Amino acid sequence: MEGDMKRDTESVQVDALFWRHFLQHSPDVVLVVNSSGVIVSANPQTEKLLGFSSAELVGQTVEFLVPEPLREAHQQLRHQFLQRPEGRRLDQKLDFACRCRDGSQRHVEISLAPVRMGDEVQIITMLRDIAERRQAQQQLQKSEARLKEAQRMARIGSWELDLVSQDLHWSDEVFRLFEVNPASFTPSYTAFLQLVYPDDRQAVNDAYTQSLANRVPYQIEHRMQMPDGRLKIVVEQGKTFYDASGTALRSQGTIQDITHLKEYEKRLDRQITCDPLTELPNRDHFQQQLNQALERAREMGQRLTLMFIDLDNFKDINDVHGHRIGDRLLKDISERLRKCLRDGDIIARLGGDEFAVLIEAPALEDYDRGVAERLLLEGAKPCFIDQIEFFVSCSIGITRYPADGNDADTLLSNADAAMYNAKSEGKNCYCFYASEMNQSLRRRMSIASNLRRAVSNGDFLLHYQPRVELKHGRIVGVEALIRWQDGERGLVPPVEFIPVAEENGLIVPIGEWVLQTACVQTQHWRTQFQRDISVAVNLSARQFRTCDLVSLVQQVLRDTCLHPCALELELTESMLMHDVKRVQLVLAGLRALGISLAVDDFGTGFSSLNYLKSFPLDALKIDRSFVTDIAQGANDEAIVRAIIALAHSLNLRVVAEGVETAEQMRYLLQQGCDEVQGYYFSRPQTVDQISLMLQQQSVLELTQLRA
Ligand code: C2E
Ligand code: MG
Ligand code: MG
Repeated sequence: MEGDMKRDTESVQVDALFWRHFLQHSPDVVLVVNSSGVIVSANPQTEKLLGFSSAELVGQTVEFLVPEPLREAHQQLRHQFLQRPEGRRLDQKLDFACRCRDGSQRHVEISLAPVRMGDEVQIITMLRDIAERRQAQQQLQKSEARLKEAQRMARIGSWELDLVSQDLHWSDEVFRLFEVNPASFTPSYTAFLQLVYPDDRQAVNDAYTQSLANRVPYQIEHRMQMPDGRLKIVVEQGKTFYDASGTALRSQGTIQDITHLKEYEKRLDRQITCDPLTELPNRDHFQQQLNQALERAREMGQRLTLMFIDLDNFKDINDVHGHRIGDRLLKDISERLRKCLRDGDIIARLGGDEFAVLIEAPALEDYDRGVAERLLLEGAKPCFIDQIEFFVSCSIGITRYPADGNDADTLLSNADAAMYNAKSEGKNCYCFYASEMNQSLRRRMSIASNLRRAVSNGDFLLHYQPRVELKHGRIVGVEALIRWQDGERGLVPPVEFIPVAEENGLIVPIGEWVLQTACVQTQHWRTQFQRDISVAVNLSARQFRTCDLVSLVQQVLRDTCLHPCALELELTESMLMHDVKRVQLVLAGLRALGISLAVDDFGTGFSSLNYLKSFPLDALKIDRSFVTDIAQGANDEAIVRAIIALAHSLNLRVVAEGVETAEQMRYLLQQGCDEVQGYYFSRPQTVDQISLMLQQQSVLELTQLRA
């Protein structure tokens, strides 16, 4: 009995020693709390962790360490715990916020161990500092979230295939990328292959199996098909890991959605090669295509045709109606021109209103001629924009490889020269290149560059050609014909610079000058010689289309005091046939001023007799080409006769141009032609010469007429 007692005491002593040691050296805070919740002992760690010394804590209830708002709840929990202490396992751990001496809070993990001390149950409470662990956990969560977000933003998903179990793990982003629901879709390699676009499946499978076999990483770009059928382009990378014995353990990799990158690439490519407005290839790209086509043509010994297309009068539309309408017109026309071509033919926009067509290896000798005719036909169709009817035609220059050039630059510049030739032949036509065109193009270009200076210097003058009334054989008027007095070139005839001035718009100031000068001069002659002579002034298509002609003429008549009946404006058939409603309006306005209107070069255009009837005209001028052949070709005589009859039936005066012989004159007189003009009577003359003629009271003409 005694021995037992001793052993007990010893063991108690050992326990006490152990406890002291344990409490002293435990890295955690250890509190012993009695059944009333009072702290009966606390180890030195309390000071380190919470700032309270053990002396400060002993005697306090544990709620002393609980932050104020939680105290009541804590107390209740403590009571519950004490009622069923054995219901709690020793290793029960709770996350808890403890109050520190400095007022801050500290996250601790609490474990509670009830111990029986005689009759009383005491609770050994251990508090472990978990601030660091919590921080690390939070950090981990944050970086996981960041990784997810990064994967989402980069559209990169990651996957891992366990080669032993064949389990495949996909990151969230892979599910999102493949547009399948993680809740209902179980990833597997077969399931993955099923989502790959069928045409790409073989290649994807090959890439992976070869990478396994050769033990090298792989990368492949392929398409995935979404459940709704849309395609995405992805780039997939992967590699396999092996154990020490060389057995493959797992493959792991990434898959990235690069659809948007590919689209961007395509867009960039389009921007580099395409004209944004018409979506046709641009000049650079066309030149590349032409070079490649030339290489092929050389290799295969084939022919090639190049066309240079320039829209007629497009600049006017741009000037008058603005760029918005101009752009829409270009788009519309480019669309129509494109439709004229066969699949293999290429059309490009070189810039502005210039297009080019490339025809490789035309099967038929005349295939290009057919294309050009179709292009002209389509180009000349009216086009409606905002309910306005527009007429634009094309002029086309054509070169052929190998006949007209061996390289892209030569072919292009020759096609350009041919196009200019088409313009000078009256536009709305095509011309095949001929070597002399280059020379005329060069001359034309030098004219273009000098014309502006000529306008500001006023290097122009007017010659006048008398118009003779056949019935009485007297001069009834003159036609004003412009000349350019150039230092280098001498007297430049209008056929050389008027088309250039039309093209670059200088015809507008030039035309105003002609009108003003001719009216001043005619008024001068009228007062000087007291004769009722009139003046005919040529109008250009551009003036007619773009200027407020009615106001201009009104102003000039007012300024010069010329009687309106002494002014005749000459128009051409092509001016009348475009945009008929507007033409009718302008003509009516001009007519209302009291001036007269004549159609110049009649018979060379395509005027509709019906329109002719509806315009307020006064005269027709038979083109020189018909007059020249009088007394030589029966056909032309018939035409002249018909024009005269037609004009008279419409109550129009008839003027014959280019009368050079007495025979022509006699025939015209016989057919009842009203007036004539031509070298037979007089070439175009200077002001002084005309003055002299008017002074001599046209005796000369009278004698000639009677001869
Ligand atoms: P057009 O209005 O038909 O003028 C007649 C042209 O025929 C003039 O050429 C004249 O010199 C020429 N001619 C007259 N009689 C004969 C003849 O018997 N035989 C031959 N072979 N030719 C004759 P020009 O002066 O060289 O003018 C050429 C064209 O230039 C004019 O044709 C007209 O369309 C245009 N033009 C002349 N002046 C002006 C102008 O001030 N403004 C505009 N817009 N065009 C003008
Ligand atoms: Mg004329
Ligand atoms: Mg004429």
